[in-house]
Amino acid sequence: MTKTEEKTDSHLYNILDKGFVKLVDFMGGDARAVDSARVSFGSKSKGEEQDKRLIEYLLKHQHHTPFEHCVFQFHIKCPIFVARQWMRHRWGSYNEISARYSEVKEEFYIPEKFRLQDTLNKQSSVEGNSFDNEKLLKEYSASIDASFKTYKSLLDSGVAREMARMALPVSQYTQFYWSANARSLLNFLSLRMDEHAQLEIREYADAMAEIFKEKMPWTWEAFIKTTK
Ligand SMILES: Cc1cc2nc3c(=O)[nH]c(=O)nc-3n(C[C@H](O)[C@H](O)[C@H](O)COP(=O)(O)OP(=O)(O)OC[C@H]3O[C@@H](n4cnc5c(N)ncnc54)[C@H](O)[C@@H]3O)c2cc1C
Repeated sequence: MTKTEEKTDSHLYNILDKGFVKLVDFMGGDARAVDSARVSFGSKSKGEEQDKRLIEYLLKHQHHTPFEHCVFQFHIKCPIFVARQWMRHRWGSYNEISARYSEVKEEFYIPEKFRLQDTLNKQSSVEGNSFDNEKLLKEYSASIDASFKTYKSLLDSGVAREMARMALPVSQYTQFYWSANARSLLNFLSLRMDEHAQLEIREYADAMAEIFKEKMPWTWEAFIKTTK
């Protein structure tokens, strides 16, 4: 992931070869979570030290609701196979670009190198060079080119966009908005930053963790401490 150098947009991270994650909007912060928790006692902030301690207590004891008052809205561009994993996270709101309305751009994920099948963790991968990466990348790119040509040919013949897209692979880039509260986002990050998650989605999660850390530093600190 690379954070964009543009001074005007400090919350845009370029991910993979053509993707990004961008913070569109944010509501709340550490103080909002604290105030939401203390409303139970009719009080508010009690200063940094006590507020930090409260946040840690809330996370440690799974009193998660005060964090639901803080909301992040993201704009994401990622390959479809990453979006499929993402959209398993039900606690959030999604709106995605429609390949029924608009023609799909020629944008597909081309990894720098392929990883080997992990033999211990059956759903995972490991670094390795027991194959000819360059040759395989050529083969992979050729199959994507062929799929995209078929897609264009179907469209040129008058086939509807909603059907022509069936020829495209899951490496195709999609874009969507995702709004999630801090509770749900922490759940997403704990699952998708983990080494068991696929490397590609981890790249997005790592960037979002940076954004979380900047927007809610006390909560992030407590999250790291309580999930060790
Ligand atoms: C490494 C990894 C491997 C995975 N492999 C697979 C796989 O092989 N096959 C597969 O199908 N999925 C797989 N998943 C997806 C996984 O099962 C979850 O769907 C996904 O991680 C979303 O997590 P979640 O339910 O906690 O999030 P959310 O849907 O955002 O839910 C957040 C929390 O709300 C609560 N909640 C939400 N919905 C309900 C409900 N209906 N009932 C009760 N409580 C609810 C739960 O406490 C939940 O943790 C994998 C995920 C990871 C991280």
